[in-house]
Amino acid sequence: MTNNRYKILLVEDEANIRLVVTTLLESAEYQVIQAGTCALAQTLWASYQPDLVILDLGLPDQDGMSFLRWLRQESLTPVIVLSARSDEKDKVDALDAGANDYVTKPFGSAELLARVRTTLRNYRHSAAEGRLPGGRFQLRDLVIDYDARRLFRNGEEIKLTQTEYNIIALLSEHCGKMMTYSAIIKGIWGYSGEGSIKKLQVNMANIRKKFGVKPGESWYITNELGVGYRMEGEREE
Ligand code: CA
Repeated sequence: MTNNRYKILLVEDEANIRLVVTTLLESAEYQVIQAGTCALAQTLWASYQPDLVILDLGLPDQDGMSFLRWLRQESLTPVIVLSARSDEKDKVDALDAGANDYVTKPFGSAELLARVRTTLRNYRHSAAEGRLPGGRFQLRDLVIDYDARRLFRNGEEIKLTQTEYNIIALLSEHCGKMMTYSAIIKGIWGYSGEGSIKKLQVNMANIRKKFGVKPGESWYITNELGVGYRMEGEREE
């Protein structure tokens, strides 16, 4: 076996889920380290320094959120939260506490693998290029020229306001990742206050209009009500 495989720390107390996820990840050539408690997860994280953590929130000794907060004081290791909780507030709390993404149980294997791939890839990019990558971003027929601050679809420029451009650019820098409303608002306006979500939604509606997207029609960005926005897809290398 090669020793350059990604190491993933799987923190999950239910043995059957641990087995299913481990088998899935190993079949995709990842190396898996397993922990059933927060305490063991901390020890294993320290000795293995994994590339990614998949974290269940309901654990027997402590809440997964406390592991997440502990980890964020130590490191930026990407974390995907695996949770039975479908409550939006839990997702928002996990993302705002530094989780990179989440998958709600029950999940499909393709979905989990796609999230793992995207999270590892985004982390590599941000580690290599910083928060503001230079050059261009391409997602299917959408091209963003970061240096010129211009955006093209099928080679045709779509004229955006400063704020609209900033929103699209921010989402593209985190392509594949669900960004909470407050993270976007902080990134764009530098604060989060009353009515900010409304302001964001108005801008997003205007962007959709400029793209000629009809209501209900899917495009590059999905909105999860009560949580935030995600630009769907993987950045092309
Ligand atoms: Ca559990």
